[in-house]
Amino acid sequence: MTERVAHFFDTKIEFLKGVGPQRAATLNKELKIFTFGDLIQYYPFRHEDRTKFHRIAELNENMTAAQLKGRIRGMTVVGEGHKRRLTVEFTDGTGVTEFVYFQSIDWYLKHLRDGGEYIAYGKPQRFGQRFNFSHPDLETLNPDNERGGYFQPIYNLTETLRKKYLDSRFLGKTMRILLEQAYPHIRETLPSSLVQRFRLMPKADAMWHIHIPDNEEALKQATRRLKFEELFYNQLRLLKNKVLQKRETPGQVFGSVELVRAFYQSHLPFGLTNAQKRVLREIHDDMKIGKQMNRLLQGDVGSGKTIVAFIAMLMAIGNGAQACIMAPTEILADQHYRGLKPFCDALGIQISLLTGSTTRKGRKIVIPGFADGTIHIAVGTHALLEDTVQFKNLGLCVIDEQHRFGVAQRAKMWAKNETIPPHILVMTATPIPRTLAMTLYGDLDLSIIDELPAGRKPIVTEHYFESKRLLVFGKIKEQIKLGRQVYVVYPLIEESEKMDYNNLMDGFESITRAFPEYHVSMVHGQMYPYEKDFEMQRFVKGETQIMVATTVIEVGVNVPNASVMLIESAERFGLSQLHQLRGRVGRGADQSYCYLLTGVKLSKETRIRLDTLCETNNGFDIADVDLKLRGPGDLAGTQQSGLMDLLLADLAKDGAVLKAAREAADAILQEDPDLVQPQNEPIRSHIDALRKEETNWSKIS
Ligand code: ADP
Ligand code: MG
Repeated sequence: MTERVAHFFDTKIEFLKGVGPQRAATLNKELKIFTFGDLIQYYPFRHEDRTKFHRIAELNENMTAAQLKGRIRGMTVVGEGHKRRLTVEFTDGTGVTEFVYFQSIDWYLKHLRDGGEYIAYGKPQRFGQRFNFSHPDLETLNPDNERGGYFQPIYNLTETLRKKYLDSRFLGKTMRILLEQAYPHIRETLPSSLVQRFRLMPKADAMWHIHIPDNEEALKQATRRLKFEELFYNQLRLLKNKVLQKRETPGQVFGSVELVRAFYQSHLPFGLTNAQKRVLREIHDDMKIGKQMNRLLQGDVGSGKTIVAFIAMLMAIGNGAQACIMAPTEILADQHYRGLKPFCDALGIQISLLTGSTTRKGRKIVIPGFADGTIHIAVGTHALLEDTVQFKNLGLCVIDEQHRFGVAQRAKMWAKNETIPPHILVMTATPIPRTLAMTLYGDLDLSIIDELPAGRKPIVTEHYFESKRLLVFGKIKEQIKLGRQVYVVYPLIEESEKMDYNNLMDGFESITRAFPEYHVSMVHGQMYPYEKDFEMQRFVKGETQIMVATTVIEVGVNVPNASVMLIESAERFGLSQLHQLRGRVGRGADQSYCYLLTGVKLSKETRIRLDTLCETNNGFDIADVDLKLRGPGDLAGTQQSGLMDLLLADLAKDGAVLKAAREAADAILQEDPDLVQPQNEPIRSHIDALRKEETNWSKIS
């Protein structure tokens, strides 16, 4: 039985009625559709409602589409050259309308029959007293279609397909033929308990109605069912990896908290927030059970992730292991090093920095120190991934600002220890929506710091047009007079580094001119690290009041006295990036301000970005809006995640389905981690089928 079923969907598409070898070749080439299985999973992206007929007398401007049934009564070609067009007069007894064709005129002249009966579908446009249709879709009236009553699926097509008349109508018809044959072969892919509990449409019906639904409701249910299935298997795969990895990957046991306690009692400069404490407990619980931790730490900018990471490192060091923290940029690595050094000195812990610009001499000290265990904490950039970097006993690896690192790099850190891999703590720069975190990092456990340290005042954010520049400068001056410092940020325009540079220089000059009584620093990507460092330090020490910079200051930089930020050409930045930038201020006790300067011509989307930023300081809310605006595909890190495999589900819209699917997958794995129980047989065979599909794919491409 199983054998025959598998065979059916593997049938080559050329054997389907109405396809044949030539069309099959085109479908192979254009849509990568090779088999019945491929075709049936080629879902339409929308449907046209062809259930009803409209009367010509009832047409109005507000209709997005209308379907007419009537007769052609006259065809005329008018105009010359590219003005040449065919007009077709069409009547249904209630009125007269005109169809206009600018292309394929000769084809229509040959195939349309004056006096013939047709069904037409298109968008009516008013033209004086009459309505007309430009290039409506025409079909000869026949006993099959004269009563209407179907939804036309609309598929993504290519130009070549259209030229060969392999259009949505062809695909729809072909799909019907396939579905009629395939229906008995379509097996349920979810356990019946899930189908019942979530009131899901059975698989075979869903496959039918997603292509050719009987009505709106059937389409809705089919879509819901298939999205659920898609997300269920997406989550099941991630969670299964997690369960297996937990079961099979040992971790060092960090039971002693003595060092942590020593730090806590005498060196911690502030009380931890409840969220920080909770997260530390989660981390400690993970690191004391003998299994490898793989945890994602999410928290808004300024929520205090660094100190959490440091305390986690102390857990490792207090139990005789080493720890490392890897940052995406040198500035950040450097800052972590400087920030943590005093704590380490107080505790008698050795900490060292390794980046791309560490001198050869420096490397000669640091690298052996990691290898022989005399250095307890390694802070660095990608440089830490080099093969020459080895540890005596790496117990914890913290990866800061994950989205700049790939999954492969995470895996590389795993291999740094010979016997037991280090625990892994990944920290994101800005919050990402829960739905995205579930799919992107679904194989990690999640900790969230959802609370800012006490006494933080929300940053006041205001948007001004260029014309109000002087007013904004006035506000900035007032703040400097109060002793505060200011960031002025310029966008990076990727296509031209030179233009960026010029932009920044112009900006620097105009700022020095506008603020002659103050000192100005500047940091940008083309400076040598020591130059950057020098300028940063002048600002950190308060020798300069204004820091002009490109987005190099985006991640992590921490100067509590800098409480004002001016973002130039703010329309050029993405929402999350703006939030991330803004997070550089609001780190001290003072009221902070963020001014967004833009030109006057703004798109609707830009408006939403700026308004959102002015309205809220909550990074999780901002991430949700960003996801809705841009879709998951454009958000950093998604390309490498397998997220792109989702055919139907949309993470911006299907959060509720995702949550249900994840919970369902989780519950099933809790009870039956190896999926051996009989009720989970549909899952097992579907996973096998998916795996087979994947290997087929890898053979083709
Ligand atoms: P992020 O989560 O963005 O990486 P940081 O770790 O850089 O944030 O912390 C931001 C600032 O808040 C730092 O100056 C840090 O010392 C301070 N901080 C962290 N936790 C607390 C706390 N519980 N109370 C007061 N200040 C804190
Ligand atoms: Mg940080």
